[in-house]
Amino acid sequence: MAAIVVKTIDGKSVSLSSGALDALRGALRGGLSLPGEAGYDEARTIWNAMIDKRPAAIVRAAGASDVIQTVRLAAQHGLLLSVRGGGHNIAGNAVCEGGLMLDLSRMVSVWVDPGERRARVEPGARLADLDRETQAFGLATPLGINSTTGVAGLTLGGGFGWLSRKHGLTVDNLVSADVVTAAGELVRASESEHPDLFWAIRGGGGNFGVVTSFEFRLHPVGPQVIAGLIVHPFSSAKQVLNEYRRLVAKAPDELCCWAVMRKAPPLPFLPPEVHGTEVLVLALCHAGDPVAGQKAVAPFKAIGKPIADVVGPAPYSTWQMAFDPLLTAGQRNYWKSHDFVELADGLIDVLLNAIRSLPSPQCEVFIGNLGGAINRVPVEATAYPHRDVHFVMNVHTRWSSPSEDAGCIKWARALYDAAAPFATGGVYVNFMPDDESQRVRSGAYGPNYERLARVKAKYDPRNLFRMNQNVAPAATTKGALAAP
Ligand SMILES: Cc1cc2nc3c(=O)[nH]c(=O)nc-3n(C[C@H](O)[C@H](O)[C@H](O)COP(=O)(O)OP(=O)(O)OC[C@H]3O[C@@H](n4cnc5c(N)ncnc54)[C@H](O)[C@@H]3O)c2cc1C
Repeated sequence: MAAIVVKTIDGKSVSLSSGALDALRGALRGGLSLPGEAGYDEARTIWNAMIDKRPAAIVRAAGASDVIQTVRLAAQHGLLLSVRGGGHNIAGNAVCEGGLMLDLSRMVSVWVDPGERRARVEPGARLADLDRETQAFGLATPLGINSTTGVAGLTLGGGFGWLSRKHGLTVDNLVSADVVTAAGELVRASESEHPDLFWAIRGGGGNFGVVTSFEFRLHPVGPQVIAGLIVHPFSSAKQVLNEYRRLVAKAPDELCCWAVMRKAPPLPFLPPEVHGTEVLVLALCHAGDPVAGQKAVAPFKAIGKPIADVVGPAPYSTWQMAFDPLLTAGQRNYWKSHDFVELADGLIDVLLNAIRSLPSPQCEVFIGNLGGAINRVPVEATAYPHRDVHFVMNVHTRWSSPSEDAGCIKWARALYDAAAPFATGGVYVNFMPDDESQRVRSGAYGPNYERLARVKAKYDPRNLFRMNQNVAPAATTKGALAAP
């Protein structure tokens, strides 16, 4: 094997000798893929097709030992290092240009203890992997709404979905994690072991180390829930959103209802003449007693005159995949996001105006419904700080051809700007694109930023883990080791 040139964290590069590469390959239980070798393109290809970076080498880890070897090598030579879990993050920091990539996507084991209601999950597992194993016992932990998302990145940023109003964020259900620190040491983070690190990884992203195992608390869920879609014509969107905000304000925690605005996809339950026209979709899930669930969804079903209403009993694990066909990998994506305490009249007008000029048939605006148990956790309890938010807007700008890049990005930014006067100023770190590093301090972390910077200085003083929405180590916040 010939020597390779690898970028370093100080913007330079080093040569890794053939001997060093042979030693690494020999030490790994998984594998090492160089450009042109088997697995290289598969590992560097992530969900967002806008990201096309070429690492100098990719470690395809099989376990914690491989992670430790890789982090130690990166630390020894100061290599630019990126970490891939499920590969879903919009910003594309899972892949680095010219550096060393640590691909965890083959570490997918999930182990459930139904008696203790706990799950141990490896960092390459997707939401579907975890749901499938836990639902075998009628259990679940709150996750996101697209089953191909990685558990690792979702958890490290916070994590919310259909169960969060009842059971909190994904991080609110994290019991412990095994973390390989920048020193290449594996430590257990929990309320009693390295509690500062445990606090930081519950929302602070991949800034503090590489998680090789997550332990989650589980709750009885389903297997049947009351869930489904109610599709309204766009002409009644304003009236429906008015009713929507009134009803979710008094909904029980078991019920979560997101609003989605987009052009109607060719769903089998929609008449053909509706396909391709703008619609407002209410997506509901009640994960509790089925009789109470039918009662809770009834007022939502009574809104206006929907084109279709397919809300009813459904397996929770199937509902978890309901949006997968709309959120497939391989499209070009640019997202913008705001948090809201309420859906103001002016905001609704802004949203409806934007939907009238969707730049591609795949574009959509999601209004996620938070509150409930999420908001009963103090701001300072975890690194995730947005405990007063009731709605999160995610502008999913999606298209196919590079020729549409400029128009689609312009549309997303215009909607983001127009909605800003109604927003809290906060942003969910997992919805931030790669050009928003200026929002990390006050937007993503706000009151928790300084504490995060101190934990960063303790566990990663050189900022080895900088391929993320970066928190600069406290001592170097104004210094030379700031993120690229
Ligand atoms: C279609 C879609 C739907 C989504 N829906 C939701 C939703 O409903 N709710 C929600 O909360 N979020 C949602 N998200 C956002 C999602 O939580 C983030 O994109 C998340 O970062 C994805 O995690 P991943 O492991 O797949 O990503 P990756 O791109 O692999 O990782 C993201 C970053 O996390 C870090 N990282 C990953 N693994 C590790 C590890 N083991 N140790 C240390 N650092 C690590 C790295 O910095 C990496 O750059 C959605 C995203 C998409 C694309």
